[in-house]
Amino acid sequence: MKKEFICIVCPRGCHVSVGEDMNITGNQCPRGKTYVENEMTAPTRILTTTVRTIFEDQPRISCKTDNPIPKELIFEAMKVINHIVVDREISIGDILIENILNTNVNIIATKPSRKKE
Ligand code: SF4
Repeated sequence: MKKEFICIVCPRGCHVSVGEDMNITGNQCPRGKTYVENEMTAPTRILTTTVRTIFEDQPRISCKTDNPIPKELIFEAMKVINHIVVDREISIGDILIENILNTNVNIIATKPSRKKE
């Protein structure tokens, strides 16, 4: 059976098909083929979310993984992220959680925090 994917590697969003013979078509560059091969074997995602802070005027700041993590770990990663509270000044790119779930991937801030009063 033919499988359809939308490549999310770049904004073009090519519709990529995989035939029964595993022939990959529709990708406009080689990265689309690699993306679909990974999706079919070990799908990964960049996780973007927010984390709680102690700052009343900024109760959450945005964060993300600095590399993709296995898709099946996203729920567990969210549990870890929901347990931390930022209580210090944070700059963009600061590591909030190191090596989450032993994936060698860090959770980093994508917004700075305000100064602690
Ligand atoms: S196949 Fe290539 S051009 Fe198409 S969306 Fe993926 S990365 Fe972009």
